[in-house]
Amino acid sequence: MPERETMEFDVVIVGAGPAGLAAAIRLKQLAAEHNQELSVVVLEKGAEVGAHILSGAVIDPVALDRLLPDWRERGSPLTTQVTEDRFYYVSETGGIPIPTWLMPPLMSNHGCYIGSLGSLTRWLGEQAEGLGVDIYPGIAVTQAIFGPGGEIEGVITGDMGVARDGTHKHSYTPGIALTGKYTLLAEGARGSLSKELIKRFNLDADSGPQKFGIGLKELWEVPKEKHRPGLVQHTMGWPLADNTGGGSFLYHFGDNLVSVGFVVHLDYDNPYLNPFREFQRAKLHPRISEHLAGGKRIAYGARALTEGGWQAIPRLAFPGGALIGCAAGFMNVPRIKGSHNAMLSGMLAAEAAFAAIKAGRSRDVLDAYPQSVRGSSMSTELRKVRNVKPLWSRFGTRLGVMLGGADMWLNTLFPFLRHTLRHLKPDYASLKKAAVAKKIDYPKPDGVLSFDILSSVFLSGTNHAENQPVHLVLADPAIPIEENFPNYAEPAQRYCPAQVYEVVEEGGTVRFQINAQNCVHCKTCDVKDPAQNINWVPPEGGDGPNYVNM
Ligand SMILES: Cc1cc2nc3c(=O)[nH]c(=O)nc-3n(C[C@H](O)[C@H](O)[C@H](O)COP(=O)(O)OP(=O)(O)OC[C@H]3O[C@@H](n4cnc5c(N)ncnc54)[C@H](O)[C@@H]3O)c2cc1C
Ligand code: SF4
Repeated sequence: MPERETMEFDVVIVGAGPAGLAAAIRLKQLAAEHNQELSVVVLEKGAEVGAHILSGAVIDPVALDRLLPDWRERGSPLTTQVTEDRFYYVSETGGIPIPTWLMPPLMSNHGCYIGSLGSLTRWLGEQAEGLGVDIYPGIAVTQAIFGPGGEIEGVITGDMGVARDGTHKHSYTPGIALTGKYTLLAEGARGSLSKELIKRFNLDADSGPQKFGIGLKELWEVPKEKHRPGLVQHTMGWPLADNTGGGSFLYHFGDNLVSVGFVVHLDYDNPYLNPFREFQRAKLHPRISEHLAGGKRIAYGARALTEGGWQAIPRLAFPGGALIGCAAGFMNVPRIKGSHNAMLSGMLAAEAAFAAIKAGRSRDVLDAYPQSVRGSSMSTELRKVRNVKPLWSRFGTRLGVMLGGADMWLNTLFPFLRHTLRHLKPDYASLKKAAVAKKIDYPKPDGVLSFDILSSVFLSGTNHAENQPVHLVLADPAIPIEENFPNYAEPAQRYCPAQVYEVVEEGGTVRFQINAQNCVHCKTCDVKDPAQNINWVPPEGGDGPNYVNM
């Protein structure tokens, strides 16, 4: 067997999203300011930087302003400033506009930019490389390396060229070990290694369960005369039932582009709910269809997002490493914004790691990082909105959002208030039994505004080498048919936005089929499976979606 190669760095970063790249850039800036050598590597499972990034995105430039104050002059792809902000509560055919003056100032999108987070990360990748960061795309990190005291010494990347039955193909290459003085995990929502380390170091002992949503998105090119660059629109209400959180987003930006998407909170209770079909149905509403009519859909994808907020952030630092960005969960749910906090957290972790390395330390706990997060703008921002999601989950959309709005005002006017509602249960525990749930009758796709799932998955560009181990690992292969099917009509068939899971009836029996090649790496199955029986592990590096402008 070929031997595993080892490479040594000062800092190893897993994930080239906004968090990982901001951390890498900040580390190199500090090294240059102090005239110190510092090696930084960023590992990314997408075939290239940005290929696995999917976001809205209305971006608050607060982090970019701090990281690269001249980002506008450096040709960043964020060029469309928000000009108009619309918010509706909608019924099936109508809608009531919610005036922006009713909302606390922190909800305003004034000064924000609309763009593709994927394009922004590609550009951030170039800035990082310009500063001497080593970025390796097409490399999936699968394991951590632990030192004698249990501290993280680095990571191991996935083996390439393993066949589905576990044997080695001729192309077999063992994963590489990359060691560092500190390892920063920037895997985004429900990171696979982050999940293991949260468990191993019991990082969520005090924070309770993280909450998630699934976000589905399409990119449309619309006729020039319909394009309103800078327009931001959000809706709540139809087609979701009142006890299901979520809503649509629609952003006009760039050259005749419109990002349209739909978020469903993953604590929904009806096992018959199908987030993909809710999204397709939502686009038929006149408030959305009027923007898309005459246009062409050019891309599709989906990704989980964190929704637990301030009270669900786990302990951030552990021996040898730290969680940054949405791997920890710095998303502001009512603003649907997380990328600015992902970057800010990466920068604060970088500052803590640099100071430690400069002081000759390595592989200990970076206590300065959580301390600086507590004193940062992230803490002020996230504390103000901390009760919105718990109120929404407890009281439904109409009452919960109204109470959440009142709570945000209270926390804005009286920031010393400390009342914090905890999240009651993890998302996998919220489904009711199929026998007592109402089936949902979804309309057939019209092929103009609404589409079927397989033609959608095609537009994600996802691809997986076929002969490799299935990366959706079932702890017990019998559970889908023996437990989930009778109890919940096997909800994986519906919550997966890429038709990876199917219950196939053949000759009077049913079997569970996994079409792993369709997976768009959204991580929803890992979150929502009621038996917590599905473990998403990275497939071969470079596999997965190939998002271009998402
Ligand atoms: C539908 C939707 C709409 C959103 N809208 C907005 C918005 O309008 N504004 C906003 O500010 N935020 C928005 N967000 C949130 C925002 O996208 C996130 O907060 C942000 O992407 C988090 O950045 P991150 O760097 O922590 O993680 P990510 O952006 O998820 O990046 C993680 C990176 O790590 C890589 N990776 C993961 N695991 C591994 C591994 N094991 N090995 C190697 N590489 C790995 C991934 O491929 C990815 O490139 C939205 C999110 C969604 C899903
Ligand atoms: S298999 Fe899981 S991670 Fe992949 S697309 Fe489906 S729900 Fe998302």
